[in-house]
Amino acid sequence: MSLANRLIYMDHAATTAVHSDVIAAMTPFLTQAYGNPSSIHAVGRQATVALEQARRTIAATLGRQPDEVIFTSGGSEADNAALRGIALARRAATGANRIITSAIEHSAVLHTAYALRDHFGFQVTVLPVDPEGRVRPSDLDEALRANPDVAVVSIMYANNEVGTIQPIAELAAHCRAYAVPFHTDAVQAVGKLELRVDDLQVDALSASAHKFYGPKGVGFLYLRKGTPFMPLITGGSHERGRRAGTENVPGIVGMASALALVESERPRENERLEALRDHLIGGVLEGVDGARLTGAKTQRLAGHASFVIAGVEAQGVLIGLDMAGVAASSGSACMSAAQRPSHVLEALGVGPHEAVGGLRLTLGHNNTPDDVAYVLEQLTSIVARLRG
Ligand SMILES: *Cc1c(COP(=O)(O)O)cnc(C)c1O
Repeated sequence: MSLANRLIYMDHAATTAVHSDVIAAMTPFLTQAYGNPSSIHAVGRQATVALEQARRTIAATLGRQPDEVIFTSGGSEADNAALRGIALARRAATGANRIITSAIEHSAVLHTAYALRDHFGFQVTVLPVDPEGRVRPSDLDEALRANPDVAVVSIMYANNEVGTIQPIAELAAHCRAYAVPFHTDAVQAVGKLELRVDDLQVDALSASAHKFYGPKGVGFLYLRKGTPFMPLITGGSHERGRRAGTENVPGIVGMASALALVESERPRENERLEALRDHLIGGVLEGVDGARLTGAKTQRLAGHASFVIAGVEAQGVLIGLDMAGVAASSGSACMSAAQRPSHVLEALGVGPHEAVGGLRLTLGHNNTPDDVAYVLEQLTSIVARLRG
């Protein structure tokens, strides 16, 4: 098989290519309808119409009202706005001074919680996870019972490094019982999992367009009506005073178009990606000596495969795959023995020695069974070479 002359992209958890339909939807707003939605004139009004149409599309997917959708510059900003915005507003109103989160959050949540601790005097409770990477709802319940001072709880919907899906509705129900706002980072879940926020019982939810075939630099925060909130970015009265700045109209139009696309194909694409993923996981566990699956066996994102491979460093594997035309990831920013192991693998109980062998293969739109066969073949020989 000679596929090395084309790129086999298996890093969809890092980012995705913008879908051609999305580009087509965006283009008019970069060329003719370039107005500022705050302007009175016709070209400005065109932008406003598109902006509000996009907001309605997103709200419909969430099963809620358009004015509960706040556009942001991406997932990191949405996470920051949720944590800082809710925590500061809740403290101002009630004195609540604690943030509860989990040990496997994306750094956009975890480092924001630590910044609120180090610079704003909040307390942070970090919940552990089980060996598959799941937060136990009983642990959250205990933390809520023990601490009457909780301002906000933030637990991700699905993990970017190991693909584990959290029991969000169950976790959120505990927060409801204590009247504590619940935020979920759903960046990895969009296009894969149910997003109806009333079923999930969440008060705030973050998303990022570039993780679901939309453009980079645009995302949204769903914020349930009545949730205490302080804007992260102040200035003009955009987004009903919750996020200042001229709206990224082409990006927002693209995001709504991408969301409609992934929602429409979700059942079919999930089924396809699950089959490819299971073939990939089976092949790695069978063919690569010392490989072990990280994360959940069943409660796992479609298209997400992650491993640790004993006795090899991720860096060597990734370079080998790259030379063979395969784009993969270690799953985290750190991957050499000299660096700190991934906080996610650490939370799962993976030892530092094993964690340097982290490998993440995440499938998407254009991956085929041939791609999986090629990667399995390459990976087996790369690992054998590194060992030898
Ligand atoms: C990618 C990612 C983010 C950050 O989103 P950006 O739009 O890149 O800022 C946050 N959380 C998770 C789980 C992610 O995978």
